[in-house]
Amino acid sequence: MSYRDNALFCPSCNAPMEERSTAEALIDVCTQCGGIYLDWFDGEPHLALAGWAPSARAPNPVQRLSGHCPKCGGGFEGEELLGTGSIVFRCTGCAGFFATEAAAKMIAGYTEPLPSQVPSFFAQLVELLRDTFKK
Ligand SMILES: [Zn+2]
Ligand SMILES: [Zn+2]
Repeated sequence: MSYRDNALFCPSCNAPMEERSTAEALIDVCTQCGGIYLDWFDGEPHLALAGWAPSARAPNPVQRLSGHCPKCGGGFEGEELLGTGSIVFRCTGCAGFFATEAAAKMIAGYTEPLPSQVPSFFAQLVELLRDTFKK
């Protein structure tokens, strides 16, 4: 059984997304551009982002997505993820998270020791994406 009744549509290219479940989150992978949308399962959605302190956010989004969050309809703001060079997008309305395929693969392949200020959210994300892309 599917967690959702309806497929989500990619906020970047509007193609349908394919669901992949992991233990901690539901990842939707775009069938066309390979972008990923992440929807945290557990509890309070903002908990997932709690470790990502406002001070760690760029004062201005570096990029915006033209599409909207497939879950809540909010906008996405892009920022560089902690000096990794990857631009990731966060929904301003929920804990939804979007990354292009290139960014997701870069995050999944991130092998440097994580800087100490990196929130557990990022460590979790690296784990998740490694799981998703290992096959
Ligand atoms: Zn797409
Ligand atoms: Zn949202």
